[in-house]
Amino acid sequence: MQLFDVLIVGGGPAGSSCARTLGAAGLKAAVIDAREFPRDKPCAGWITPRVLELLELTPDEYGRHGRVIQPITAFRTGLAGTPLVETRYGRVVSYGIRRLEFDDFLLRRSGAGLVLGERVERVWRDGERWVVNERFAAPMLVGAGGHFCPVARVLSKHTFRHETAVLAQEIELPANQAGIRQRHAADLFFCPELNGYGWVFPKGDYLNVGFGSIGHSTFHARLDAFRAVVRRHPELRPLANAKWHGHAYLLSGLSSREIIGDGALLVGDAAGLANPLSGEGILPAVESGLMAAETILGAEGVYERARLENYRRRIRRRYGVGWRSAAGGSRAVCC
Ligand SMILES: Cc1cc2nc3c(=O)[nH]c(=O)nc-3n(C[C@H](O)[C@H](O)[C@H](O)COP(=O)(O)OP(=O)(O)OC[C@H]3O[C@@H](n4cnc5c(N)ncnc54)[C@H](O)[C@@H]3O)c2cc1C
Repeated sequence: MQLFDVLIVGGGPAGSSCARTLGAAGLKAAVIDAREFPRDKPCAGWITPRVLELLELTPDEYGRHGRVIQPITAFRTGLAGTPLVETRYGRVVSYGIRRLEFDDFLLRRSGAGLVLGERVERVWRDGERWVVNERFAAPMLVGAGGHFCPVARVLSKHTFRHETAVLAQEIELPANQAGIRQRHAADLFFCPELNGYGWVFPKGDYLNVGFGSIGHSTFHARLDAFRAVVRRHPELRPLANAKWHGHAYLLSGLSSREIIGDGALLVGDAAGLANPLSGEGILPAVESGLMAAETILGAEGVYERARLENYRRRIRRRYGVGWRSAAGGSRAVCC
């Protein structure tokens, strides 16, 4: 059995942000991820400048060694199938990154012990400590495994079937391969009911095209309608016809997950924290990862649930009064 101070399940932006702060404070943290890194993650890869600030990164520093970081200063928006209106901001309002590069960079930089290619299947409490896969143990466990995080399942004691999640699919291809000229503005195509949107997002030599909307029942019909719009642009047709990859995530204010247990916290998508208007999930993942690390450090080795309640207070303050963790149903909202 390998012993750590903190076990973090999931090496996305939430897990690596948490791990970096814990490691800097001298705790022995390990990140366990089912995948080998670099790994891709279905995502448009659109981050706001605050993400870089929280990560203590400049665009130049991140962009070294050829990593893609595309400044976005304009958005073109409109209803799907109608002409788009361009808004120029005169400053950088977003960056386009590739998750394949971004997550790998953050994870390696975290300095945590890495256990990659290890799917967490079994998580249980053994006295004062958590045991994972009968191989790793620690008094503190952080669930950073995204929407289907196994730690979330243990804390909430439920399956994720009844949750109303955002479903989203995307495809990312080199612009040249797709026969696409480089673009400088990001395009957003809203559904007529304003409960989802499609995007065309430029990232250096790559282009990401995708669609997300809330709720399961009408998702595929809306997705097909958006793909038909994409197919009408000859330059985008190769992307429309390629295989898209998808995932689900929860918007803040709608999650019914319990985010705290004795010696355990959920962060990022595992907690269900994405922005209910834009769907932005990377910023809340990084923010909650940092808040969790600060809470763990503040608990000074005594990780009973009451000592971790400060995390819930901070999450509530940051993500709005509607955010709740007690069991209950979820409502749909526009995104
Ligand atoms: C199509 C799509 C487009 C999106 N576009 C954007 C965007 O442009 N901007 C934005 O801000 N947000 C976007 N999001 C949301 C964003 O991707 C997530 O909110 C964000 O990745 C959450 O980070 P995380 O660290 O919580 O989880 P993740 O990034 O999902 O990382 C979780 C990690 O846990 C690992 N894991 C899972 N289960 C296990 C297990 N059992 N054992 C071990 N490891 C496990 C996974 O391999 C993964 O590496 C998008 C989402 C989708 C689906």
